[in-house]
Amino acid sequence: MKDRIYLDNQSTTAVDPRVRAAMEPFLRDRYGHPASRSHPYGWDAERGLESARAQVADLIGAEPREIVFTSGGTEADNLAVKGVAEALEPKGRHVITTGVENRPVLDACAWLQRRGWEITCLAPDAGGRIDASAVEAAIRDDTVLISVQYANHEVGTVQPVAEIGEIAASRGVLLHSDATQAAAWLPLHVRDEGVHLLSLSANKMFGPKGVGALYIRRRKPRARVAPQIHGGGHERGFRAGLPDIAGAVGFGLAAELCRTESKSDTERVGALRDVLEGALLDETGATVMGSREHRLPNCTNLAFEGVEGEALLVALPEIALATGSACTSATAQPSYVLPAMGVDKSTAASSVRFSLGRFTQPEEIDRTVVRVKDVVARTRALDPRR
Ligand SMILES: *Cc1c(COP(=O)(O)O)cnc(C)c1O
Repeated sequence: MKDRIYLDNQSTTAVDPRVRAAMEPFLRDRYGHPASRSHPYGWDAERGLESARAQVADLIGAEPREIVFTSGGTEADNLAVKGVAEALEPKGRHVITTGVENRPVLDACAWLQRRGWEITCLAPDAGGRIDASAVEAAIRDDTVLISVQYANHEVGTVQPVAEIGEIAASRGVLLHSDATQAAAWLPLHVRDEGVHLLSLSANKMFGPKGVGALYIRRRKPRARVAPQIHGGGHERGFRAGLPDIAGAVGFGLAAELCRTESKSDTERVGALRDVLEGALLDETGATVMGSREHRLPNCTNLAFEGVEGEALLVALPEIALATGSACTSATAQPSYVLPAMGVDKSTAASSVRFSLGRFTQPEEIDRTVVRVKDVVARTRALDPRR
């Protein structure tokens, strides 16, 4: 275990020990149902769930009542896209999204399309960024939703969300943003940024797996969303089913830690990322995929000419890395994000994603540089065409 290095934090993150400790009582003796009003088991559960809701709300500048707990980012995205489409169907059946969204948004849009909705899928620039004016130009009278991610899961490119938010507000269209990758690193403020719906996932922010949230704005304007899971009246009718209370409690503390520590995490981890990237660029002549200017602080996606990304991963089993989007899909599919950015096939196939986390150590970065440099040099030396 000790020799392993985890640089796959955009797939999922370790649970912070403080988060684990906060969850423990809810897995042990605080197992009540939050709707049980007549005994302390219920009171404890309700208090745990509601303080978690307030912690999550605080992270993004929302009110607790605007937070709906879900089973993760995937469900939050599905609820946002399908829920708004269904609720606003009388107004129109047009949705705008981008070619670099994560699968849940793209697949929910494809599901709508098969049922008669029209989807405009905007192409990013070479850095993976969407031009806000392209969003504006795509808006029609029957547009009911714009869904643009906050930061990308493969290259870390950060989108001009506030700019798009202004356009959405002026045109009276709802804006959803998947902030799953951004929440651990960037300050988020749904009101300042003009976001009406925002997806979060605890497992990308040093919290547990299987829990996330959708922010649904309640006023100015109220975002209308039709529930997609039917049952009891949990989560104010937006999402039936008893939430994972221990998970939500862990998510709550994870959100609070991101709120109070992301600035220092970003400085420290960003500096380590720069060391890693700088050394690998110098030593291997790699190319950075995606915008270096508008980017998450914890990742770098590098293409090593003449080296298959998959082969590099196989040669380095002790270092957890990723290629393409295999991390988020059940099947190993090639990256669609890099092709959407206009990256050619062979460059895309030679790219590797390095994503750091709160617990990444400087010594691990040093070892990674040595190992990657070595494998790249040896692979290139074996190539008869070089
Ligand atoms: C991981 C991820 C998701 C899915 O979140 P889960 O909690 O795993 O369902 C959605 N969107 C983005 C951008 C992600 O990185």
